[in-house]
Amino acid sequence: MSKPTEDIKMQPSYPPSGISILIVGAGIGGIMTALECYRKGHTVRIIERSSGPVDTGDFFTVGPSALKILKHWPSLLATNEEIAYDPWVSYHKHTGECVVPPAPIEWDTTGGVVPERIYRHHRPRFYKMLLDQLTAIGIEVEYNHRVVDYYETEDGEKGGVKLASGEKLEADLVVAADGVGTKSHVCVSGKEVRARSTGYSIFRTAYPVEFAAADPEIDERFKLLENGKSCFEMWFGHEFHFAIWRAEDIFSWVWTHKDTGSATESWHDKTPIATVLSLASKVSPPFPPIIAKIIKSTPEDGIVDWKLIWRDPQPIWSSPSGRVLQLGDAAHTFLPTSGNGATQAVEDAVCLATCLLLSSQQKLSIKQAVQIHTKLRFERVSCCQLLGVVNQGTYHNVDWEKIKENPGLLKAKYGRWIWNHDPEVYAEENFSKARKWLESGEAYENVSVPKGYVYKEWNIEQVLKDQEEGRGVELVGDWA
Ligand SMILES: Cc1cc2nc3c(=O)[nH]c(=O)nc-3n(C[C@H](O)[C@H](O)[C@H](O)COP(=O)(O)OP(=O)(O)OC[C@H]3O[C@@H](n4cnc5c(N)ncnc54)[C@H](O)[C@@H]3O)c2cc1C
Repeated sequence: MSKPTEDIKMQPSYPPSGISILIVGAGIGGIMTALECYRKGHTVRIIERSSGPVDTGDFFTVGPSALKILKHWPSLLATNEEIAYDPWVSYHKHTGECVVPPAPIEWDTTGGVVPERIYRHHRPRFYKMLLDQLTAIGIEVEYNHRVVDYYETEDGEKGGVKLASGEKLEADLVVAADGVGTKSHVCVSGKEVRARSTGYSIFRTAYPVEFAAADPEIDERFKLLENGKSCFEMWFGHEFHFAIWRAEDIFSWVWTHKDTGSATESWHDKTPIATVLSLASKVSPPFPPIIAKIIKSTPEDGIVDWKLIWRDPQPIWSSPSGRVLQLGDAAHTFLPTSGNGATQAVEDAVCLATCLLLSSQQKLSIKQAVQIHTKLRFERVSCCQLLGVVNQGTYHNVDWEKIKENPGLLKAKYGRWIWNHDPEVYAEENFSKARKWLESGEAYENVSVPKGYVYKEWNIEQVLKDQEEGRGVELVGDWA
């Protein structure tokens, strides 16, 4: 069913569907939704509260499942290869001792061909790549459009947004891709669903490698590996972890720590170096002196203290008439230890565009399309969220005696169920089954989750409590 198209100025691959879509938020999820909806023949408009491109941040991983869609976007496919990093990973005690030496990331290798590499992305470059593609197909982000409220029209035929200016905009479907602070909850679930603090925040920074390499000790200690690869070092302490990465041209470090109350939900508010140094000096047993040197090598105004906030898995993503749909972080929050924020936002975008296309071909309503989309996505996303909580628990309470016997326990889980998924093919192959579930209540088994896993409602409070009280989370099924 899928047809590749040729160049950056590509035309839609499908005839017009007649569906108009208004996307709120030009982040990774919003732009990807605009691209894929355009390709599938829908009419797209995208608005953003900022005054220009939101091209800040440091790094994230974009998983193979999300990157599969690039086969339809030749220019993105080529640029993605050019700009992505492929580090190895090593694991350490926070006192510096190496426990698992540098190695490529481990994939679950049961059957099939495993990916050859990972794609670690500098957010500003990945973002620019998507935005350039959007501009090339003639869609311009409309900046300075801050949404203050979402609604459905009384007849349920349109979704709408109210802007800070007072203006109202409407479309057949409004996609709320406005991130974790989305204003769409009242419209979707009838009440405010506040994101709450996880109790942790994360110092994050990335800067030109020359700043760090100017210190000969850092330069010597954090070299590229003999094979030319960079190494992403994970250092674990009690209730925190620190990651250090010297990539080819950028030096980056992040420190997930207990929130002292100073963290914010902004990627723009900067934390003074002195604040981080002061916190680092209180760690016991102490960090080795190289950590203070690394922190001091950061350019002033280079550190963000990003508050990790969270919403429990919300199974409802759309408003009563299906005219407003949440997507990406607006629909599901992630801890960074899930490694899935950007990946799942892209998967959402691909699945949604496909469901809308199939629905229009089969003369279904927008409401049915978004219900089927949510059915295909929710359980998988919830598993990725749980994985982040479990990984964080592992990193923050390492049992070094157990690790001595089995160092592999420390490694992040990257199961086949995550990386082998193709969201477009999955939507195409499972649409009819989910349609039967919707229309006649026939059971629908979601097979994009770990094999043997049966979805059970969970919440972060309970999982964190279980972890604090020494009870691990039982991951039923094959999460390998
Ligand atoms: C500036 C920035 C820097 C980031 N840096 C990193 C990073 O270094 N590492 C990492 O792992 N993740 C980072 N993230 C988060 C990561 O990009 C997302 O978790 C993931 O890509 C999912 O994206 P999303 O599109 O759902 O949400 P987001 O990327 O958060 O995008 C939401 C967009 O909606 C816009 N918006 C919000 N509210 C409104 C409103 N009321 N009206 C109109 N527009 C609105 C925002 O300005 C933003 O552009 C960053 C996000 C942002 C916005």
